[in-house]
Amino acid sequence: PADGKANIGVTGLAVMGSNIARNFARNGFTVALHNRSVAKTDALLDTHGDEGSFIRTESIAEFADALATPRCALIMVQAGSATDSVIDELASAFDEGDIIIDGGNALYTDTIRREKEMAERGIRFIGAGISGGEEGALEGPSIMPGGPASSYEVVGPILEKISAHVDGQPCCTHIGEDGSGHFVKMVHNGIEYSDMQLIGEAYHLLREVGGLEPAALAEVFREWNEGDLDSYLIEITSQVLAQVDERTGSPLVDVIVDQAGQKGTGRWTVKSALDLGVPVTGIAEAVFARALSSSLPQREAGKSLPSGATNVPLDTGDDFVEDVRKALYASKIIAYAQGFDQINAAKDEYGWDIHRGDLATIWRGGCIIRAKFLNRIVDAYEENPELRSLVEAPYFLSALTDCIDSWRRVVATAVHAGIPAPGFASSLAYYDALRTSRLPAALTQGLRDYFGAHTYRRTDAEGAFHTLWSGDR
Ligand code: NAP
Repeated sequence: PADGKANIGVTGLAVMGSNIARNFARNGFTVALHNRSVAKTDALLDTHGDEGSFIRTESIAEFADALATPRCALIMVQAGSATDSVIDELASAFDEGDIIIDGGNALYTDTIRREKEMAERGIRFIGAGISGGEEGALEGPSIMPGGPASSYEVVGPILEKISAHVDGQPCCTHIGEDGSGHFVKMVHNGIEYSDMQLIGEAYHLLREVGGLEPAALAEVFREWNEGDLDSYLIEITSQVLAQVDERTGSPLVDVIVDQAGQKGTGRWTVKSALDLGVPVTGIAEAVFARALSSSLPQREAGKSLPSGATNVPLDTGDDFVEDVRKALYASKIIAYAQGFDQINAAKDEYGWDIHRGDLATIWRGGCIIRAKFLNRIVDAYEENPELRSLVEAPYFLSALTDCIDSWRRVVATAVHAGIPAPGFASSLAYYDALRTSRLPAALTQGLRDYFGAHTYRRTDAEGAFHTLWSGDR
């Protein structure tokens, strides 16, 4: 702006905030910088101050003063109470109509509350999910902003400019109202959990049943990355498997402790799905598999459990590699179908105007789940925005048809060999349940009516029925 003020401000200059601030500056915006401890602000200016136009500030008052009006500030601090206190400080220093964007990993229900509180104070609040880690923040993340459309009109062009671009389209679009941006970011992370779990199962089976060592597996994943599975996670799987540990000369994967960590967004996704009543079995299995890997007393207690008669096929060969690839692809389709169902249920629950095809569009670049596959989802919703499930889109139906025999063989092989493959198996169970014309839920309803007079509906008449059951009571 002509008056020397900043177009946008960033407060919270740790890994994410400092890289996003640089990204804004590199794109020609004047950026006001603020961090609770001034040392981080100075460190950023020392190392990268020449990359663009920055305004150094030491206090929130100085920060507010440095911003052109209406003010736009992006918060990149720790999610939770730190975010609340920074929002409160900013709101006190800002004027009516100014815009606060929370780019942290906030829980969407917090965002709904904050947006309401800020609206009452005349401040426009945007909860923006930002994906892509450190590199994405600097080079172009995927950005999922939720909040009033009128606020998006002001900040959208700035956010779109710094986001990743695929085929000339920005990986940033207005998601919907209040918490919708953080909600879809959460489901994105849940999907990321399931993608990684399925990759882990493929690796485990190919290693234990297929007898392939990490170096050979790196090559398998590299080849897979040239086909339908082309994605960032498959690409880096190849690189992780190829890495040799300098200290021991062994594949690095063999010296990494096999206990997976988690920071919470996968768990949030599953909790929300339970509340919404949406079966996100693919994501849930992934979250539980991480928890199981870290359940040390139980793993210790289970070490001597008998395997029963296992049967590891001797000559699996190339067919097995291709079978596993198809099992992975089919399971991935199911996990995404479930995640999109969850987003659709939240759309109805919270009255958000979310377009599912737009999500697939903005996840094609910048974020961890970026993949060629997402183009197929974009096409599916373009063809039919009201799809009841991704599985009915012609492309996915034909992909599942192509994979189903391999998928069954792989799940059966895993069971016979005694190798856990909960992601593959539960996705297949979900698939089979969708196909089944009569589910045993009829019996469940009978039982519920027997012990609790919960009533049931009949296939041949309207209304609720209760039976005086004739068994021993
Ligand atoms: P972080 O470690 O989550 O947070 C550190 C920043 O928060 C520092 O700037 C710190 O200031 C500030 N802070 C903490 N408590 C504060 C308080 N009470 N008042 C004011 N400032 C406070 O940083 P990060 O890893 O860069 O992540 C920032 C946000 O982005 C988080 O919400 C995170 O979940 C989200 N996110 C992270 C990633 C990722 O890959 N890391 C990806 C997407 C989103 P001081 O320097 O003064 O301590």
